Amino acid sequence: MLQGIAVSDGIGLGKVLLIRAHALVFNENRAVDPQHETGRFTKAVAAFCANTASRMRHLQQRSPSSEDSKILETHIGIANDPEMNSQVCELIESGLSAEGALNRVCNMYIAMFSDSHDELTRLRAEDIRDVRNALMHLLLGVKDTAIKDAPKGSILVAEELSPSAMADLDTERIVGLVLEKGGPASHASILARTMGLPAVCGVRGAADKLSSGDFVIVDGSRGEVISSPGEKVIAEYWQKREAQLEERRCMEHFRDRHTISADGLEYPLYCNISMPCAAGGAIESGGEGVGLFRTEYLFMNRSSPPSEEEQATAYSQALDGAAGRQVVIRTLDIGGDKNVPCLDVYKEENPFLGLRGVRWCLQNPDVFLTQLRALLRAGAGEGRDLRVMFPMISSLAELRACRQLLEKAREQLINDGKACAGSLPVGVMIETPSAAFIADHLSRETAFMSIGTNDLVGYIMACDRGNPSVSSLYDPFHPAVLRALRHIIQCGSATGTPVCVCGETASDPRLVPLYMSYGIASFSIPSGAVPRVRKTVSLWTKAEADSLSEAAGRLETAREVRELLDSAARM
Ligand code: PEP
Ligand code: MG
Repeated sequence: MLQGIAVSDGIGLGKVLLIRAHALVFNENRAVDPQHETGRFTKAVAAFCANTASRMRHLQQRSPSSEDSKILETHIGIANDPEMNSQVCELIESGLSAEGALNRVCNMYIAMFSDSHDELTRLRAEDIRDVRNALMHLLLGVKDTAIKDAPKGSILVAEELSPSAMADLDTERIVGLVLEKGGPASHASILARTMGLPAVCGVRGAADKLSSGDFVIVDGSRGEVISSPGEKVIAEYWQKREAQLEERRCMEHFRDRHTISADGLEYPLYCNISMPCAAGGAIESGGEGVGLFRTEYLFMNRSSPPSEEEQATAYSQALDGAAGRQVVIRTLDIGGDKNVPCLDVYKEENPFLGLRGVRWCLQNPDVFLTQLRALLRAGAGEGRDLRVMFPMISSLAELRACRQLLEKAREQLINDGKACAGSLPVGVMIETPSAAFIADHLSRETAFMSIGTNDLVGYIMACDRGNPSVSSLYDPFHPAVLRALRHIIQCGSATGTPVCVCGETASDPRLVPLYMSYGIASFSIPSGAVPRVRKTVSLWTKAEADSLSEAAGRLETAREVRELLDSAARM
């Protein structure tokens, strides 16, 4: 059995699909028949173009406006580029193998384009790299394992998966996820939870220990990967899986209700979404609105950022999906582990302490203004409850600068004669220690605050939220974290500014009563967690939650707090 970190509940049974970058081994200078080599190259190009064109047709049928099909069109253009192809053929004539010639020509263009200051040219280098790799696979007869083409019942095993690769994942085909890197708050884990996909992270050496086709069991609740299970174990896990699904069905009872504590206090449950089309699903799952729309996902998997028009349509779609309920749209939060190739995000030594969230946006006001204009336009529609939230705030100056740009966006729209929202409620994410310490000031200048515990825990504990080596330090039960949360929520209560928790800890049944006791106004959680958290809230009175939080507040270590909350948990 392989042990990792439990990051997304549920049990998945299936066959391993190993996603690994192949080492492409070939002989550059072999004694060859140039005609034969040219024929191999031409055949590989033809096969590549035929495969790509068919993928393109498939994509266009599935989502006609998808940017992916444009990328594929570019790839076909690169493979057929007459200049490049004649250079490859020349090198073949001079005695190189088809692989060697292709590699040399592509590497020359990649090196040339990668150094460019122009972002689109740099992207071109990425495209050439993709095409080169695909052609190499064809020439060498290496089968590429594409996530999109995964057979039904696959368990994906990889070193790590980028958020954009995760966004491509089809849960009809993939039933579990095992990653060597990452932790509970890494974006791959968050997306796995959103998709209801059982997942285990931080499984060291998984890609070496498991092979494609192995039958494995992923227990996302215990962080275990069981390889080559015997029949008895398989039967046992099918049963466990059934029991879990049954429990989920029972929870249905809590789906369409308000979220009321045992003594009648209301704690609305909002949902975290990454795509506009998920807003409707969040409401169907029993969410009372959207508490966090992570807009950076609109910028992924494409070669240029979405236009103002496209963004306004996306935000309107989310607002329409929420049917008049509140939708908190968070402005672009890139940087850290969220890389967005279509934007000019420089590789930094220490990305989590670098240009993240509003820091990047304030230095790139054109991109920011486009988003703010789109938000104001979307907010203008009848009966819409749109709120804007700024991420990674660490000073009042940043909040004020963001507000000024929001005002500027409004003035621009008015001058352009475009309809725009009058004034939108503005809030901030509290996810840096500095924001936590000045929560009293921030609360006076905002309509709401939302605690991003995923980042806040990492920054308070000074450990990377995605690094398995320090995952034991990344602890939301640590007294320092609990003190920070209590302080922030109390600052909000003192000025009447509602505070929400939107990090993953908001759906932990052990922490929910503590947050209730601190005076939290609402929770924002993955839509799949709504029934469970609603039930937990219903099992506590404020007085009971207060006595638990008093006891927890007297404890000195994270372990003691965890033990207390484990024993007190009601589910
Ligand atoms: C957080 O930090 O808790 C949060 C919700 O933001 P993200 O996970 O998108 O960084
Ligand atoms: Mg965050």
